[in-house]
Amino acid sequence: MLYVPDTIAAVATAPGRGGVGVIRVSGRGLDALIAGLIGRPLIPRHAHFARFRAADGEVIDEGIALYFPGPNSFTGEDVLELQGHGGPVVLQMLLSRCVALGARHAEPGEFSKRAFLNGKLDLAQAEAIADLIDAQSEAAVRSALKSLDGAFSREVHALVDQLVTLRMLVEATLDFPEEDIDFLEAADARGKLHGVQQQLQAVLGTATQGKLLREGAHIVLVGQPNVGKSSLMNALAGEDIAIVTDIAGTTRDTVRELIQLDGVPVHIIDTAGLRDTDDVVEKIGIERTWAAVEKADLALLLLDSREGVTAHDAAILARLPAPLPVLRVFNKIDLTGEVAGAVAADEVHVSAKGGIGIDALRQKLLERVGWQGSDAGVFIARERHLDAIRRAQAHLQTADAAYRQIELFAEELRLAQNALNEITGEFSADDLLGVIFSRFCIGK
Ligand code: GDP
Ligand code: ZN
Repeated sequence: MLYVPDTIAAVATAPGRGGVGVIRVSGRGLDALIAGLIGRPLIPRHAHFARFRAADGEVIDEGIALYFPGPNSFTGEDVLELQGHGGPVVLQMLLSRCVALGARHAEPGEFSKRAFLNGKLDLAQAEAIADLIDAQSEAAVRSALKSLDGAFSREVHALVDQLVTLRMLVEATLDFPEEDIDFLEAADARGKLHGVQQQLQAVLGTATQGKLLREGAHIVLVGQPNVGKSSLMNALAGEDIAIVTDIAGTTRDTVRELIQLDGVPVHIIDTAGLRDTDDVVEKIGIERTWAAVEKADLALLLLDSREGVTAHDAAILARLPAPLPVLRVFNKIDLTGEVAGAVAADEVHVSAKGGIGIDALRQKLLERVGWQGSDAGVFIARERHLDAIRRAQAHLQTADAAYRQIELFAEELRLAQNALNEITGEFSADDLLGVIFSRFCIGK
């Protein structure tokens, strides 16, 4: 994969005002840029207090300059970091100066992309950087760090290594047709394949948990007016509501809430906030909400335990997409004296107002969205990774079924290996890289 190693520059800190703002520059050979901006060479990996100057020598800003010559830098190229004052105008002036000195504006994710192309990170690790920045819970941060540290990549490599060994065995057989099946059976090729399949299944399980931490679960909350939906939201969120902040990119409107259950981000879509309207903007919002309902993991039907399931509730359920699993939650049991907690796989009794049965409900929700109870050992993952693992599994299944047709067996092993290599980026198309890195923020 070729790229032109021109010099790129970007503001690396978040937009807005802050005490410090960072400009990051990466390229092959920054001496001229450093001379023009600072007027003297920088000692590698030393913090220099410096004045950053315009073409006419006028000071634009002053701050700390750090120089990391390649390959010992984040991108593997020569990297310059300028820590100036965190004002949007002064940072733009500084960035323009870097551009005047030969840099160009970096595209989103371009620093990470270069780190990947220069072998400083594999693809799963580069993605983990974006996932760390976007993490919506502490558990998501911990698991993103595990992926960044290479925990996921090591699992993938271990599987690929076993596949390579197996392929060597099978391909050796292809060269000596008279040996064929007996040879493979003596070497227990199929047993080895089954071992890989088992490990792949375990990795899929962990990656599924990682995806849940990254993307969160989506739960639709439905129920008639006054059954206690708002009260239940507050009870579920509990003290965690304090750390639920306005994360960019997650719309927080009246029909969507983000809470955390045991470190798992849970998006609650409250369809009760939806009503018939002629307002164009509101209509778009409603369409989006229904689109979210289509993709939800679970519907939570809140009921008044004094009434049970009424015809109104049946009508509400009828509007939900058919495959969506439903958990029935009977509220206000303080008024009926019913027993609290989970009474069946799809039924929980609570009092939102009294905070009774809420822990049991939290457990039940987590169980129903597939959370296995702890983020220990969980690395962050994306749908792209799960898809690659599932494709590898399908190829291994075909290989297993076809193991007597050695050429087919060998080919399916090869395809499984390619699918796994897509995770770390050792086998990937350029357009895939474009899609992945364009979703990063500028300056990463
Ligand atoms: P929503 O319209 O479904 O969002 O319902 P609210 O959460 O606004 O609650 C409606 C009313 O029911 C309020 O007066 C709440 O105080 C009350 N309520 C909610 N949960 C309970 C409960 O568990 N027990 C009792 N007795 N009242 C509750
Ligand atoms: Zn309400």
